[in-house]
Amino acid sequence: MVLDGNWARRWVELAAASMAENRTELIHLDRNIGDGDHGENMDRGFQAALGKLTTLDAEATPADVLKLLATTLISTVGGAAGPLYGSAFLKGAVALKGKPELAPEDVATFVEAASAGLQQRGKAQPGDKTMVDAWAPAAAAAGKAAEAGEDAVAVLRAAAFAAVEGAAATEPLVARKGRASYLGERSAGHRDPGAQSTAYLLGAAVEAAS
Ligand code: ADP
Ligand code: MG
Repeated sequence: MVLDGNWARRWVELAAASMAENRTELIHLDRNIGDGDHGENMDRGFQAALGKLTTLDAEATPADVLKLLATTLISTVGGAAGPLYGSAFLKGAVALKGKPELAPEDVATFVEAASAGLQQRGKAQPGDKTMVDAWAPAAAAAGKAAEAGEDAVAVLRAAAFAAVEGAAATEPLVARKGRASYLGERSAGHRDPGAQSTAYLLGAAVEAAS
């Protein structure tokens, strides 16, 4: 499977399906340490992006699709996650500009750029119990897999797997950024909703390639 514009569209479709399917779980996670709207925010944003896919022309590159996703998330997702995911996907799209198909190192560059864009925007560090704790290990794993000579889909799979582990690893952490940080020590013992949605989104990217 080549990671081209059709793959990127399929990713948005499967991500939208995943956000709808996991809406309730993400709401529950955000209810534990936030205000309970993360599932609703993500579902709304991805449904809007899904609706806009038809505005793309047939030659749309992965960068075109991801830029549309980014701008749609920024304008439709209320809450912190909209601008944060928007910045991540926008920086990721810029890094892929003009490429009709992604080589293994392009996948790594995309995840690294997205992770860096997110950190630049939200100023969270790894360990602060945010979506950075899924994106940063995903970027590291993708870089390592590309360097090891894995193919593009395997690089993507390595990123998604690291995001799943990263999301689980947020459970014992004390939040230092976002709404959950208001709880201080009481935020420990719960998984970060944004890290979990990141794991689902990267999982959908892999699914779109299979
Ligand atoms: P809100 O917090 O405004 O209700 P959401 O519930 O949609 O927005 O998103 C919450 C998620 O956003 C958190 O679980 C966390 O992963 C992420 N988040 C919040 N602040 C930051 C930040 N400064 N940097 C990175 N991620 C953040
Ligand atoms: Mg919330």
